[in-house]
Amino acid sequence: MLNREILEAKLSELPLLQYDFIKTDELMFSDNIRYICETECPMYGKTWACPPGVGSIDECRARCLAFDDALIITTVAEVSDISNIDETLATRGEHEKITRIVRDYVAEQASETFVLSTEACAHCSECSYPDAPCRHKDYMFPCVESHCIVVTDIAEKHGIDFIGGNFVTWFSIVFYK
Ligand code: SF4
Repeated sequence: MLNREILEAKLSELPLLQYDFIKTDELMFSDNIRYICETECPMYGKTWACPPGVGSIDECRARCLAFDDALIITTVAEVSDISNIDETLATRGEHEKITRIVRDYVAEQASETFVLSTEACAHCSECSYPDAPCRHKDYMFPCVESHCIVVTDIAEKHGIDFIGGNFVTWFSIVFYK
């Protein structure tokens, strides 16, 4: 059983915007998100962090539901122009770094963790997909949408806010058991 007090003491030292503990049966999955990945995302089929490399919709759902518990976290970054994709994406690295630290804190008390985070993986200059396995499985966090999770639904259930204006709110889920 994870000691939340110990974990929360560590989380309080990180620049998180919000966090909360969830039960995975609260997650809403939508097959339609996979359709959007397939038809609208330029990263579809480009990395192991995205469909179809992450597996089928059923495999992804089962991977998440193999855990009863998870921690959702957000960080926020201010940009000068939210419509500038390059500037917005440049703030993602810091969120990924914080997500990794949170994962490590959770892992200190868990037998297993699994993380979903933001966007496609950009860890290697050229992804090994599909010719060879992922080179850095410990670093590679598939994006939440790749597993067909409706972020807005779980965020709303837990009072997690997405700040508007020129603020980017990044969201991750750390599953644990
Ligand atoms: S860590 Fe490298 S090989 Fe693995 S998904 Fe990311 S870019 Fe591809």
